[in-house]
Amino acid sequence: MVCAVVVVGEPATQTRITADKNKYTPAQDVKIGQEAAAEFKKQLPMLDDGRVDEWVEDVGRQLVAGIPAEFAHREFRYTFDVVNQKEINAFALPGGPMFLNRGMIEAAKTEAEVAGVMAHEISHVALRHGTAQATKGEKFQIGAILGQVAGAVIGGTAGSIIAQGSQFGLGTYFLKFGREAETQADLLGAQIMARAGYDPRQMANMFKTIEAEGGSRGPEFLSSHPNPGNRYNAINKEAASLKVQGNADTGDFQTVRQRLSGMAPALTAEQIAANQKKSGGTSTVSRRPVNVELPSAQERTYRPGSFLRITVPSNWQQTGGEVLTYAPEGGFYSDGGGGTSFTHGLQVGVAQGGSGNLQRDTDALIQGFAKSNPNLRSAGSRRESLGGRTGLTTFLSNVSDATREQEGIAVSTTYLKNGNVLFLVGVSPRDESEDYEAAFRRIRQNMQITD
Ligand SMILES: [Zn+2]
Repeated sequence: MVCAVVVVGEPATQTRITADKNKYTPAQDVKIGQEAAAEFKKQLPMLDDGRVDEWVEDVGRQLVAGIPAEFAHREFRYTFDVVNQKEINAFALPGGPMFLNRGMIEAAKTEAEVAGVMAHEISHVALRHGTAQATKGEKFQIGAILGQVAGAVIGGTAGSIIAQGSQFGLGTYFLKFGREAETQADLLGAQIMARAGYDPRQMANMFKTIEAEGGSRGPEFLSSHPNPGNRYNAINKEAASLKVQGNADTGDFQTVRQRLSGMAPALTAEQIAANQKKSGGTSTVSRRPVNVELPSAQERTYRPGSFLRITVPSNWQQTGGEVLTYAPEGGFYSDGGGGTSFTHGLQVGVAQGGSGNLQRDTDALIQGFAKSNPNLRSAGSRRESLGGRTGLTTFLSNVSDATREQEGIAVSTTYLKNGNVLFLVGVSPRDESEDYEAAFRRIRQNMQITD
């Protein structure tokens, strides 16, 4: 007799995941994430409830222990905070800081469902999707982003980009992923859950819950974590190849839920934006300082880095940070809402270069500025040397977020030897542009670059 051949499906094996190319170091991920997290903590209403935080940290710690060795970066520090916000959402920043909305915990049916979202977020961090995305050049260069996080927003924008209502400029920069990254985060997330002792199918369930919430609550998460297609089945298929190791459930989920239900309701995104506005995060009131002095004819030379010598009007002060600012008194100031206003003067920074084509790299830089300055309009550009090097100066108009008045901007760029882009951004009110442009031109001609 002939033995019947039993055809079984091909044996399920766990998906092998490879991290994308990344030209940034893990230490850079950490730096970006830490700076952004500090801003988010200032701008968002943190729940700050010891008991709830402790539980989220317990769950998070177990998941982090489940990260496969190849994706466990020594430098990364995973932290977990709960935001007192109603909309279902969660996000994690490069290098490890994670923020979970209270609405996410309230919408979940089990601890493992919350763990599912957290495992997904941890996977984005471990796979370094934020900086991998920047490496691909899909998004804007890191140097300028760092500058923006530091509060030195180019183009006269009041307040840090994060302070701008619900725009969360940086958030959308690092927290919006493509479908390929989503697939990876789903699969690695499932693997991390199983290794940590949670059933990965619960992640699939949570995504179903999020999609079902719809309305004003669901889409926020889904817009930054788009469904790569067939998400639910793909996660369950991966889950079938995984063995859940032990049981990580803390048994505290119900206690946490009860505690939350005893508190005043979480704030909505609109309420949070309104509060930020009240505290000066976003200004609609003209706060233009009076009597900002015109550029002095006398000059003063600074040597801010090893490779730069810059001569500016003597009544401009240098302010440090990732992006240097040279401004007269009143032209660059703290707006009281945790941000800064920049209406008169010059900023100097370095952006990660890439294309080798100065026009293209400059366009990308300006597109980055436009993200936090929606009224930025180009008025043409011209070849102009910068410190004796081939350079490009682009003139733009903008509406100052601080004054609501028209301002003129000149963005000048040139390459450093390492391929990065040195940029100068001159800003002044439209009606003072002539005086300022003359000063900017002198600076461009006289600066010395010795990299
Ligand atoms: Zn995602």
